[in-house]
Amino acid sequence: MKQNSIQIDYIEYESLDAMPADDVALIEKAIEIAQKSYSPYSKFPVGAAVRLDNGEMYAGNNQENVAYPSGTCAERTVLNYVNANFPDHNIEAIAITSLKSNSSIPITPCGFCRQVIMEMEYSQQQKIRIILHKIGGPTYVFQSAPALLPLAFIGEMLQ
Ligand SMILES: [Zn+2]
Repeated sequence: MKQNSIQIDYIEYESLDAMPADDVALIEKAIEIAQKSYSPYSKFPVGAAVRLDNGEMYAGNNQENVAYPSGTCAERTVLNYVNANFPDHNIEAIAITSLKSNSSIPITPCGFCRQVIMEMEYSQQQKIRIILHKIGGPTYVFQSAPALLPLAFIGEMLQ
């Protein structure tokens, strides 16, 4: 028997002042789109913004449905959009935030979304910077998808 552990490294910023300007712009876009969220059931508006390798930014928010599984998270709304429309461009970063949170830490993506970020990072062979922002609070930055999904299922992609 062997005892193992997995370490997750991330950077914490206490405020946006110390962050790179392009990341701050991405966070601001996520906050802006969260205000247009369709979340009448959870009343938990989430926004996500993606920056491509050409510098362009796109954003999405959570789109809920009375039949809960029919809804989509903000992250997958924007990730699937950019993958559908700009398959020749790599994703450099995604910023995620919520307008509401009782937690002292930033919102984190659900398991579904972590799996989707993982797939896109692997398929493009370029790390995706994951920026989790709490409005008025800290921002966590993870340098790649596996940090948020250790031992991820990647099926036959590695073979
Ligand atoms: Zn999700």
